[in-house]
Amino acid sequence: MSITLFRALDLIEPGDLVLYHGSKPDFHGLYVARPCDCFYCAREDYLGATDTRYRLSDPYTEDPDALTLRCVRRTSITRSAANA
Ligand SMILES: [Zn+2]
Repeated sequence: MSITLFRALDLIEPGDLVLYHGSKPDFHGLYVARPCDCFYCAREDYLGATDTRYRLSDPYTEDPDALTLRCVRRTSITRSAANA
């Protein structure tokens, strides 16, 4: 798959910077996205769910206990222009 087509599909790869604009306004901002691997998402995947959920973490902290958002829908995030 060419880079151009890949970008056109707007896929989000693990480690990509994304903007969260979902249902929790207090958390709107820039995050690093990774596939959510919690129990519920793993079960959804097993059952054949097609809407990948993401886990978002603060890109500016090394604190492993820092805030993360779990089970975020694809429609709640946009790939950041910072990746371009
Ligand atoms: Zn999850």
